[in-house]
Amino acid sequence: MEPTLKAPIHKNRRTTMEQISNFISPESLFKDINLFSKLYDASVPLTNLTKFSIPQPTPPDPPHGSWIDWPFSRVVQQEFTPAEIGQEFGPTWATHWFKVELRVPEEWSGRDVHLRWVTGSESTVYSSEGALLQGINPKFREEFPLPPGTTTATFYIEMACNHIMGAGPDYKNGWGDEITPPSPNLFFKLTVADIALFREDIFQLYTDLEMLNGIASNLGDTHIGYQAMFVANQMVNDIRVDKLEEAKTLAANFFSSGTGQKSHQLFAMGHCHIDTAWLWPYSETIRKCARSFSAQLQLMKQYPEYKFVCSQAQQLAWVKETYPDLYQEIHDQVINEKQFIVVGSTWVEMDGNVPSGEAFMRQYFYGQQFFRKEFGVACKEFWLPDTFGYSAQIPQMIKHVGIDRFLTQKMSWSLVNRFPNNSFIWEGIDGSQVMCHFPPGDSYGMSGSVDEFLKSQNNSQDKGRCNNGIYLFGHGDGGGGPTRTIIERIKRVQNVDGLPNVRFSVPDEFFENLATEKDKFYKWVGELYLELHNGTYTTQAKIKWYNRKGEIFLREVEELMSIAYTMGRVDEQQLAVDIEEVDSNWKNLLLNQFHDVLPGSCIQLVAEEAWRIYEEVFSSLKILRDAYHVRILGGGTTTKAIYNPLTWPVHTVIFMKPDNDQDLPVGEFIQTVNLHSDPFENQGEGRFRVPNTFAAALVNLSPSGYSTFQPIEPLNKVTYAANTPSPGFGTFSNGIIHLEASTASPGLPTEKLFFNGSDVAFNDFLNRGVEPGRFYIYDDLPLIWDAWDVMDYHLETRREPDFTNMELQLLSYGDIVGCYRWSANFGNGSSIIRYTIMRCDSPMIEYYTIVDWKEEHKMLKVEFPADVLARNCTFEIQYGHTTRPTHINTSWDMAKFEVCGHKWMDMSQNDKGITVITDSKYGWHVRENIIQLSLLRAPKNPDANCDMHKHFIYYAVLPHVGTFQEADVIKKAYELNVLGSNNIPLMATDLVGANLPNSWVTLSDNTVIADTVKVAAEIPRAICVRLYESFGGYANPTITMGFGIVRVEECNGLENKIGDIPHTGNGFSVQFKPFQIRSFLVYF
Ligand SMILES: [Zn+2]
Repeated sequence: MEPTLKAPIHKNRRTTMEQISNFISPESLFKDINLFSKLYDASVPLTNLTKFSIPQPTPPDPPHGSWIDWPFSRVVQQEFTPAEIGQEFGPTWATHWFKVELRVPEEWSGRDVHLRWVTGSESTVYSSEGALLQGINPKFREEFPLPPGTTTATFYIEMACNHIMGAGPDYKNGWGDEITPPSPNLFFKLTVADIALFREDIFQLYTDLEMLNGIASNLGDTHIGYQAMFVANQMVNDIRVDKLEEAKTLAANFFSSGTGQKSHQLFAMGHCHIDTAWLWPYSETIRKCARSFSAQLQLMKQYPEYKFVCSQAQQLAWVKETYPDLYQEIHDQVINEKQFIVVGSTWVEMDGNVPSGEAFMRQYFYGQQFFRKEFGVACKEFWLPDTFGYSAQIPQMIKHVGIDRFLTQKMSWSLVNRFPNNSFIWEGIDGSQVMCHFPPGDSYGMSGSVDEFLKSQNNSQDKGRCNNGIYLFGHGDGGGGPTRTIIERIKRVQNVDGLPNVRFSVPDEFFENLATEKDKFYKWVGELYLELHNGTYTTQAKIKWYNRKGEIFLREVEELMSIAYTMGRVDEQQLAVDIEEVDSNWKNLLLNQFHDVLPGSCIQLVAEEAWRIYEEVFSSLKILRDAYHVRILGGGTTTKAIYNPLTWPVHTVIFMKPDNDQDLPVGEFIQTVNLHSDPFENQGEGRFRVPNTFAAALVNLSPSGYSTFQPIEPLNKVTYAANTPSPGFGTFSNGIIHLEASTASPGLPTEKLFFNGSDVAFNDFLNRGVEPGRFYIYDDLPLIWDAWDVMDYHLETRREPDFTNMELQLLSYGDIVGCYRWSANFGNGSSIIRYTIMRCDSPMIEYYTIVDWKEEHKMLKVEFPADVLARNCTFEIQYGHTTRPTHINTSWDMAKFEVCGHKWMDMSQNDKGITVITDSKYGWHVRENIIQLSLLRAPKNPDANCDMHKHFIYYAVLPHVGTFQEADVIKKAYELNVLGSNNIPLMATDLVGANLPNSWVTLSDNTVIADTVKVAAEIPRAICVRLYESFGGYANPTITMGFGIVRVEECNGLENKIGDIPHTGNGFSVQFKPFQIRSFLVYF
């Protein structure tokens, strides 16, 4: 019944609608007299306002994060000096504290009073005792409701000199120029600091009108739209004559009209997507979390039906460490009231393409471990709303940690093709299936507007198949999450005819509802390729370099610890300490895999902080590694040993340079190689840089353990023959491959690569040898997202760099290694040095390339044409590989012009192929028979100096006969990454020959890889071994350990037991399906 509702006298829809809009709009000409202006009745100034500014650190100490040394207890002891409205505070990243003293007028007693604070910067309100009360988020939450009964009070406000989106110079309280690099000199003006009388009744009517206006606008020429307009129109008339109760009843009647049984169901969840670092440093994220979570705790008290979902264990761990009282409140909320819901299962919301399989596994492991230990819960979903594409191995990886639900929304950003589903079954490379949902509103930060509810309903790609959708609301990053306004808006439309049915909910309830419909779902097989942001496989190359090396170093140290533990060479107490340190290193590596750090879309401050964290991880791992070598080998002087972490025997040339300027090893079959006269950048990065002078020797290494350093005579020595007549260059050969390098002097040499010293293998299709390794440069100016995007049109700008000052030099070569050096300058002062290297007994040509990069908005690639006919080629991903087309038949094929691959990619026809292997690159472009590896980009936003430094890049080309599986390229790629680029350490020991521990884990089957060997996390006397089938077929390996097995249990990726596995002696046999990942606990 709406007895008092009248239609407007005039039937002019436009004037009726615009009047309603003017009546509420904060932007209207009449904003000073409309309903918006009446949200506050009156205000009075503060009784006193003083400030204390945290001293700016002296450069080079960073300006950000200085607040960490200034907790509340220290701040309040400082002298506060007068501050006033209109004053400006800065510079960027500085922190100022304010002491706010107030007295509430007696006549306001019993009313709602707000402390108002407007500066344009993020702030936090504390009680006079130091309790963190609530964040202040510019634009969205600029008031703090005083506790009822407050008469006089003192509060402290901590002001952080940054916007909610960092510190871009032209930031206008919204999206705009926020990805420009931070300005170092931002100042924030205090424009409002007072207390004001809040009109709850006006706020409620205001929200009613907002929603009615939204319905009238969005449902336009429909019965419901007109009804909403009439109700709003009459409410305006009633409010004008102060008939507030009548207005309220009109609205209440409208909003209870009821949805139909078959209405779309929206599950509304409060959320606050906080990027763990992006346009601000990690340290600022800690405060963003505190501001947002404190504000949410308040809302939960006000609205018991409201649910807030929070991902990323790291952020909660930071709050626990920095704000223990706030954390305790969160903790109690999670456990008791269950309105604060932890979701997602990961340590941080990571990049979805670049991290290794084991790094993915550890995201879930450390994330779930935190949620279990802290809250006694296990997340049931993988939650990654904002990552730039999703690996085809994710379904199996999440199933391996007990999860079969996945949520993201980023696929809505694809630029070329619209992803065909919002709810579907996603099948990974091994056939694992998980249930997926993309919230059809295409956002994780919605604000309760009617058009968003309608979009969530109407935009669904699965109408008729799926009637359920998630509605994720809340302002992210510095916005503090949902506000009262958003919650009140949602409350209005929970059950309104013409709109979807909306309820406050949690992921578990949603996915249970979704599961009832899944029989109707489509299935998507393979990767979720985001047709945008594909420059993130290349941007911030140094971060990606560190990431790969860190993943490999951690694997090595964890295996060493397992060997020492099973040998009884480390006591449990020491081991526990070391495991904690390894865990901490893993968490730091995982932190830097956050989806704006590893992809390279962060500001310079963050990149530099990431490098520093990596350096700390490497130093810690180096100390651990050295200690474990001594524990296992016992030290000594008799001989030298080499450690091979890989679980298969390796026959390779290793490069050695002892630490501490000791002499290089010399002797028979040892060749000294001198690459360069200047030291490479940052020798401190230790074994992960090839030194300028080193010793090279061919060795046989036993699997997973030690071998005596014993150089052997090559079967296939490296030879070199100069071309005649001069000038030309020469031919390197090792009996397996040969490389003809020739040049018109001076110039970039043309290299032709052949098998077996003849031109048999590569001259049948193109009638010439392969010309590997030429460089091309491209213009690289994306539409908007500079650090993120490579656009399709960049491909039209391919050209050779304008090389000048080219030099060519044959370096010292011998039986073991042959090498020549080519160098040039190009572009805007850039230089390049390339070493082409052939090792004896090796099927690869390897390139060490050093680029001093000074280009702007350019992209550098290296090209490998292949004399191969292939319609698809193969790229390594986590625990396996995937294929992508080499053609552009469809728009889906065309959009994949830059794709992600890990250590190797392969292009093959039936009888032969070419593999390219890299030690730190991830971006590939393949069309027809041309393979390109993306080396460097040069975006200017948000890091103006992104990649503007020296890069050490290592890649190799491996021609092969047969398939890549037959050619063992998967293992060769491991060997290049683990043993190839490294300066292999020689350990002094008295153990020789058979006394050296080795073969700690070996496999009888060539196709299965033991990717991880580690001490089990929480189970005594057990080693965890994680393996995968790498060829894409069935396998039946026997896994043999170098120690006596007591028992074997299969476990999942969280090391939770699944079932017993029979063993015989030191081994156990298991079956693998194609690409299957399996983990085992081996007890001793
Ligand atoms: Zn994000």
